[in-house]
Amino acid sequence: MPVSDRLYYHDSFLQSFPAAVSDVRELSRTEGESLWQIALDRTAFYPTSGGQPFDTGSLLAVSRGGAPLEIPVESVEEDDQGQVWHFLHKPLSPGAQVEGRIDWQRRFDHMQQHTGQHLLSAVFLRELNAPTVSFHLGETTSTIDLASGPIAHHSLERIERLANEIVAEDRPVTARIASRAEAESLLAAGQLRKLPEREGEIRLIEVADLDRNACGGTHVRSTGQIGGLFLRRTEKVSRGVRVEFVCGLRAVRAARADSLILAQTTAALSVSAADIPAAVERLKADSKSAAKERQRLREELADYHASRLAVEVPIEGGLRVVERVFKDRDPDYVRLLASRLTSAAPGSVVVLASEMADPSFIVLARSLDLTFDCGGTLRQALAELGLRGGGSPDFAQGEVPASSAVALRASLIAAVRQAAPAPR
Ligand SMILES: [Zn+2]
Repeated sequence: MPVSDRLYYHDSFLQSFPAAVSDVRELSRTEGESLWQIALDRTAFYPTSGGQPFDTGSLLAVSRGGAPLEIPVESVEEDDQGQVWHFLHKPLSPGAQVEGRIDWQRRFDHMQQHTGQHLLSAVFLRELNAPTVSFHLGETTSTIDLASGPIAHHSLERIERLANEIVAEDRPVTARIASRAEAESLLAAGQLRKLPEREGEIRLIEVADLDRNACGGTHVRSTGQIGGLFLRRTEKVSRGVRVEFVCGLRAVRAARADSLILAQTTAALSVSAADIPAAVERLKADSKSAAKERQRLREELADYHASRLAVEVPIEGGLRVVERVFKDRDPDYVRLLASRLTSAAPGSVVVLASEMADPSFIVLARSLDLTFDCGGTLRQALAELGLRGGGSPDFAQGEVPASSAVALRASLIAAVRQAAPAPR
């Protein structure tokens, strides 16, 4: 089976083309939805390769007498033999005549990002001696990985400016087919950086007075059509530095999205955009000092609260048993209160619960002058409910579903009374 003639090699601006179906395969049939792979004798659809995603669009089947049928092309892939397969949800017969139609907005966007990548890689190599090791064209941004150490911010700004100057110079971007021998001599002369492994003719893409690359992708006709280039950010990756960039309308969309976020932030902070960093620093400092003050007040409150409880609950039979449930105090506060109360009031055993949420939180603690085993007692009481928790002999904590909280507290109080821990 001969492989498709790739029309985009010769004309990457071809948006529709006539072709004949040369091969059909049924790929899968799941839940009533089939997927078919269609090969054409010629195609302008670009299959996923070299970091550039596939084209979408449709095949218009020209039937005898009937109305034309337009079938969406879901994706396009190439196989090891170089055949291009179009994925459709409807079958076509071998020999059927079709008109291929490329989703031009998507393709042109890909051509801008991909040609922008050639330009950017060339400028990084020329200015920083940083070769590109890989390229990825994503849904909203694109990235190149450079074999390079960290790149200073001012260097990135300079690269971005130089690349945009070349965009403004509107230099021709051309494709030509070279023999393997010519490509090899260009490589030997240092006028071509890399050569693909495979045999046969080589497609060379040239950006005038800047760059020559072996590439099978789709490109715009001149650097002006890249429409501008914006470096978004860099990050360290295992092989070097990843640079995120956007070209053309993507750059406008990215700037538009950023400016919306900026507008929302300036409105929320009631400051100008330039004052946002200082305003955020102030907020962070305020929040830190407020948290510190809040903690100080909680500790002070826990001290007062502990002394009030010690007065409210007298010692009976040598023991003060304090049981309290709080609906409006969080576990941290209850823990703090238990520790303040047991250290301030000798002879005390406390059962304190925070029921702000379900499961509720429970503490069993005692003063150091007693001998009762809080950890063991709570562990056993929770185990009877199929739950886990425990702690040290003088301080234990756990969680219990609200539905079992009353029963748990009753069993803890009973255990305390039964043990009647005497002061040491
Ligand atoms: Zn290319």
